[in-house]
Amino acid sequence: MTTFKALGIDFPLFDAPAEDASDYAGVATCSFCSAQTHSFSLGIGCYVQVRCATCGVENWLDADDRANGLCRSCARPVEFPFLGDGEVLICYDCLRSGRAAITKDTEFGMVSWEQALSGVTHGVPGLKTDKFPVVDNGNGWYGAVIPSQHLLELLRTPTPSTIQGETWLFCCQQPMTFIGRWSRANFSHYAPDGDGRAYLERLLGKHVPGLWEDDLHDVTGIYVYRCPFCRREVANWDIA
Ligand SMILES: [Zn+2]
Ligand SMILES: [Zn+2]
Ligand SMILES: [Zn+2]
Repeated sequence: MTTFKALGIDFPLFDAPAEDASDYAGVATCSFCSAQTHSFSLGIGCYVQVRCATCGVENWLDADDRANGLCRSCARPVEFPFLGDGEVLICYDCLRSGRAAITKDTEFGMVSWEQALSGVTHGVPGLKTDKFPVVDNGNGWYGAVIPSQHLLELLRTPTPSTIQGETWLFCCQQPMTFIGRWSRANFSHYAPDGDGRAYLERLLGKHVPGLWEDDLHDVTGIYVYRCPFCRREVANWDIA
């Protein structure tokens, strides 16, 4: 149950055990800088940053397709860099310096590099929230207006290991910190009064039939987030 912080690679928004990150690849060779260190795999939903040789603007190319693209500013060709033939891996330093972007799903819709640059999430149908200003993204989808720096931070953060895909939560005008995929034992251990079940339901804000009973969590998953500002904890869950 070693956290990234304990491994010396601290992520402000991921304070969970390393095994709770779906993209953590252990110690491996970084495809970008060849360092032999803690690495993360870049697959579907990940982008590699490539500077346009003509105009100097940063572009993002799909890490899974590895196809060349056209510059988003001057429309000249931008070439996908050679990153080896195997899986594309990125070390902590390269990820933190923004050489790649790991797309995240959030309570306000998908966030990838386009959303991070514009400061508006991809949105969800009929979104209503008092956490952020909301804008009409068209076709009944509404995005949340969130400062780019917070969205960029999400893209430089590992992905929680979930059953159906993560739903990142926000509090106090910023992303919350993912603190882990919790079992019944975790809730009982951390419950202030020892009542793990009541603690789970307080974090979920509701009673979900069968969720506490599924202790093996092979059918369901419970994901806990903590606000780095007000320390509030909130959980969400999914099912196979
Ligand atoms: Zn590297
Ligand atoms: Zn260009
Ligand atoms: Zn908060």
